[in-house]
Amino acid sequence: MNFLNPDLAVNYRSPSQRVRVMTEFWTWENVFCPSCWYQIIHHTNNRPVADFYCKSCSEDFELKSKKSINLWNIVPDWAYGTMIERLESSTNPSFFFLTYKQNLEISNFLVIPKFFIRSENIIKAPRVLKDRWEYLMCNISLLGIPESWKIFYIQDWKEIKKDIILDSWKKTCFLGNQKWETKWWLLDIIDCIEKLWKKDFSIDEMYNFKDLLKVKHPQNNFIEDKIRQQLQVLRDKWYLEFVRRGRYRVL
Ligand SMILES: [Zn+2]
Repeated sequence: MNFLNPDLAVNYRSPSQRVRVMTEFWTWENVFCPSCWYQIIHHTNNRPVADFYCKSCSEDFELKSKKSINLWNIVPDWAYGTMIERLESSTNPSFFFLTYKQNLEISNFLVIPKFFIRSENIIKAPRVLKDRWEYLMCNISLLGIPESWKIFYIQDWKEIKKDIILDSWKKTCFLGNQKWETKWWLLDIIDCIEKLWKKDFSIDEMYNFKDLLKVKHPQNNFIEDKIRQQLQVLRDKWYLEFVRRGRYRVL
């Protein structure tokens, strides 16, 4: 059973501050780095985006939480401009998402690696007035982010084993070292594979995404070649295997 501790929040009046204190403490106490399983450290409050970092491998993490029984689609976030700037920088953070129930029990905790949150996932939200300045706020939309990019620590109240978390992280890691152009192609191909909702698939099923991929990469006139090439990259990275000619299986 995982619960947030309300005693930590007694000295805070604002509901958002209370939630922040409770969720940050729980994360600090219970969550380890998905990359190396080292304990994560809390950043001081003056960094714009990034709550935690790992001293061992220098990964940055930003924590977002929401009171909700089910896994949510939209997570309230900070100023739009700050968020976009941070996502486009070379030190963009990975995201921890936490959901909890009315009784403060944690229902979900997951990490989404940094390269999976793109600016298209950031949605403009109403402006708010703060210290006499008006800020354009934003939400992060988790709609359209494939399931395999969500690495759970707790899923529907069930704790996930350490080995599975580390393995899932490792599987996505290779994307971090690719150039942006290659990375977008790989992400789009993984996205298409996810849309098939099955482990075994054929090259023809992948070719069905040709039009969709053409819209995303209008400058490329050899989409079918590119699909085959990206599947090879994914095979070399142990994301999938070639079963026989034109047949693939996700590992
Ligand atoms: Zn680490």
